[in-house]
Amino acid sequence: MLTGMTVTRAYKTELDLTDRQITACKRHAGAARYAYNWGLARKQEAYKATGKSPSAIDLHRELNALKKTELPWMYAVSTCAPQEALRNLDNAFAHCFCRCTLKQEGKLKGKLGYPQRKTKKKGLGSFHLTGFVVVSPDAIQLPRLGRLRLKEHGYLPVAGVKMLSATVSKQAGHWYASVQVEQERAMPSNSGPVVGVDLGIKTLATCSDGTDIPNPKPLKRRLKKLKRLHRAVSCKQKGSNNRKKAAHRLGKEYRKVGKQRADTLHQVTTRLATTKSVIVIEDRHVASMLTNHHLAQAIADVGFAQFRRQLLYQAAWYGSRVVLASRWEPSSKTCSACGWYDADLELADRVFRCQNADCGQILDRDLNAAINLSKLAGSSSESENACGVGSAGRSREAAVKLPTQAEA
Ligand SMILES: [Zn+2]
Repeated sequence: MLTGMTVTRAYKTELDLTDRQITACKRHAGAARYAYNWGLARKQEAYKATGKSPSAIDLHRELNALKKTELPWMYAVSTCAPQEALRNLDNAFAHCFCRCTLKQEGKLKGKLGYPQRKTKKKGLGSFHLTGFVVVSPDAIQLPRLGRLRLKEHGYLPVAGVKMLSATVSKQAGHWYASVQVEQERAMPSNSGPVVGVDLGIKTLATCSDGTDIPNPKPLKRRLKKLKRLHRAVSCKQKGSNNRKKAAHRLGKEYRKVGKQRADTLHQVTTRLATTKSVIVIEDRHVASMLTNHHLAQAIADVGFAQFRRQLLYQAAWYGSRVVLASRWEPSSKTCSACGWYDADLELADRVFRCQNADCGQILDRDLNAAINLSKLAGSSSESENACGVGSAGRSREAAVKLPTQAEA
């Protein structure tokens, strides 16, 4: 049976800009960055003085007044750019406060992510425009910037969608436009089986039906290289140029590992979402932020966040359901056959041995965990993540934000 639903989706594509357009884009990105930094300083100042922080709307009004006196150059850019930057700043604070609460509850050991000033050093950044966005097969028309040519013709959707907004960004020397659109989509119902998936370090994922998804092989080689590069950074003198260079090489290698992992994860999540009706995974969202010094584990954790995000939108796209089992569910320590609980199971134990005399089941630790997860298909813990932003349950009816090509 097919039922329609509205999804929000982003399409990202490279721009083919003239020098003049590049200047205009830089100016917009600069205005967005300026507004963000200015807003951050204003918020801190106001908070110190009054204990209250002005909202994005207040700040935008204030900034508009400043244009007349101190910031006349801002008239050259669309008002959207600074306005959206201030809105982003509000979101950044909301996110930080959410993490604060989690930290107080002892559920988070990572950094709080207090909003930081944006600097040119970290790249020119981006700006977000709402309002009049028109797309044709070979160009995109934006407020103030006019008609910008596209490198790839016909990729952006032209008909049958509602344009919401556009983001222009510069990455590694190239300019991109990402348009957010709302589109109708017939949602297929998915009648596949229920599956529990345990994500691991040795194997990427173990499914309760007994199938394994191995890690991509080159990752292992890369891990070795990463370790070496890590050592190279730490043995160089702090503040030295050599350390900077080593850190740069390390960063590049991390990006490669990340890309490769994302590729594999994308294949896996698509396969799961198209063939299974319900997918149960462990909700390691918060636990994954725990700091740890085991390199492979750290990368597995990053992969988990990606896996979860991709699985959620893939599932919404293909009509399957994702259940996030509470991370306190002892899925790896419980016998999947009889429910006997092994309190002494260590992370190093790769095989689960049931000590219950009537059962005595012996099987792979990850498979045992995956089977336990699959039994939680009816559990109610599917709808909320750590910050209560977006959810598996809601995403079926509500908007599903799809990552853009470059992210995926
Ligand atoms: Zn047992």
